[in-house]
Amino acid sequence: MSNATKHKKYISQFPMMGTIISLTLFEKNDSAVFDVYDYLQQMDQVFSANRPDSILAKINQNAGKQPVKVSKECFELVKDSVAYSKEYSDSFNVLIGPLVKTWKIGFGGHQIPSQDEIDHDLKLIHLDEVRLNQKQRTVYLTKKGMQLDLGAIAKGYFADQIIHRLANHGVTSGIINLGGNVQVLGQNPLAASGLWGIGIRDPRYEDGRSLAVVHTTAKTFVTSGIRERYFKIGNHIYHHILNPQTGYPEKSDVVQVTIITDNSELAEALSTVCFFRGSQRGKQLVDQLPNVEAIFVNQNNELITTNGLEKQREGVYGYESDRKAN
Ligand code: ADP
Ligand code: MG
Repeated sequence: MSNATKHKKYISQFPMMGTIISLTLFEKNDSAVFDVYDYLQQMDQVFSANRPDSILAKINQNAGKQPVKVSKECFELVKDSVAYSKEYSDSFNVLIGPLVKTWKIGFGGHQIPSQDEIDHDLKLIHLDEVRLNQKQRTVYLTKKGMQLDLGAIAKGYFADQIIHRLANHGVTSGIINLGGNVQVLGQNPLAASGLWGIGIRDPRYEDGRSLAVVHTTAKTFVTSGIRERYFKIGNHIYHHILNPQTGYPEKSDVVQVTIITDNSELAEALSTVCFFRGSQRGKQLVDQLPNVEAIFVNQNNELITTNGLEKQREGVYGYESDRKAN
């Protein structure tokens, strides 16, 4: 292979799911690109919170009425989401839908709802009121007004599925970026080491510049932040990640958190959890989990990193388990 072909990148971008999705391959593979596109298009129809004909809308419309039969994929995603919600009930709650709709942050909302509205919604997010029937593959929200919201986790599920799809198409190296969710496959053909250098966004700027870079083998990088969807009253920022205990978008010292691991769905759930726990308790949580690392950016734009990230120089980190593996 000549150097020129060796260094080629094939980048496909599609605006979808409220973001720009980009797929980078290093060999031409149109069938893989079309497959990813078709898959995401299909998932958007199934899971969109804003399409009245989505299966998610159907589940929500049938709250308090009847169970809804769903596809295997949908059942899996809902089941995982409910399990994460139970495990991290102080911070992650997939039934957060009513509060999200009330606040409308990122969708034109710019005022604080009344305490009555918030109290009303808080009664609709109890996890023991969602019934999953594995055998019949049904999802039932037992109280009228309950609403699933998969916004904090769905992209992780899609990213995991896309990696399998790409591999099935014979793709050995690639990057899928679903906006805040970056997953790499295989080795980086453009680096002698085979490692990828993944940038951690600087939350102070909107132009996508990086604050740090992490060198690693195939991994998923999921970033949650509060500087993209919010409104302000005076100096107070009301952002789109809501605390399921209070119903409010509360501040922690974290402005942005990136979770680095192998499973993107887990990374999505943890990014939301770590947000509320704050950098110290978030770091403690992640340091206990095998094969998961995190980078927190706090209000002072300082980086707080977990134990498995090795600082190589200012702003440059290596993923320690890669080093151990080599
Ligand atoms: P980001 O949008 O930065 O990726 P998240 O992954 O945390 O952040 O997803 C935020 C979205 O998840 C919100 O727009 C909303 O739809 C939903 N959400 C908000 N608060 C919670 C919560 N506490 N638990 C689960 N989902 C949430
Ligand atoms: Mg998330």
